[in-house]
Amino acid sequence: MQKLTPEIYFKHVPTVIDMNIRSELYSTNEFTFAVAVILSAQATDKKVNEVTPELFRVAPSPAKMLALGEDGLKQHIRVLSFFNNKAKSIMGLAAALMNDAGGADDNYKFPKKYHNRDMLMKLPGIGQKTANVVMNVLWGAPNIGVDTHVFRNSHRYGWVGADANTPEKVESELLKIIPKKYHPIVNHVMVLHGRYICRALRPKCGECPVAKWCTAPDKII
Ligand code: SF4
Repeated sequence: MQKLTPEIYFKHVPTVIDMNIRSELYSTNEFTFAVAVILSAQATDKKVNEVTPELFRVAPSPAKMLALGEDGLKQHIRVLSFFNNKAKSIMGLAAALMNDAGGADDNYKFPKKYHNRDMLMKLPGIGQKTANVVMNVLWGAPNIGVDTHVFRNSHRYGWVGADANTPEKVESELLKIIPKKYHPIVNHVMVLHGRYICRALRPKCGECPVAKWCTAPDKII
């Protein structure tokens, strides 16, 4: 039987994914999207979406986030894990973005110089995963944000070796084996497929469009 190759996966799985949803995280502009991604570390999108509508109503721009202050921000996000660290990162990000034009704009857009992973990663709170998701979702850049679903299932399908034990290593392996034309959709497709069908526990193999090719050891026949 033919193996579950990236080509087969990315040809069939998008047929069961809503490709119009670019992210399930609630946001109102590019700044609030970056904030939502920072908040989503070790937290579900659903949990993040419970606090962000009110937060982004009062603090939709770097300027208003700074005006809210670190303690004010913590009041909004205290139900999320690591809220102290996340609050620090977000205040650092807001302060850095205030140095550029547009920091007071409620419809904030990152200046063009940040449409570049190295530059984005110089901003407080923006690590490689956040930079990838921001670039991929906001600007369609062909980066692969490796979150828990992408990490787990890349191993599950045998696409990466056991030594790919960090998100960075998984990303670099995936970039080599997944055809370039699919790079802009890898994160989106693998996250949603991983969240709703190819789950960590009890994957819903009966609903999976690539079940006939899949040889994952924990496939449920
Ligand atoms: S068949 Fe099951 S284990 Fe294989 S990709 Fe689909 S959901 Fe995942």
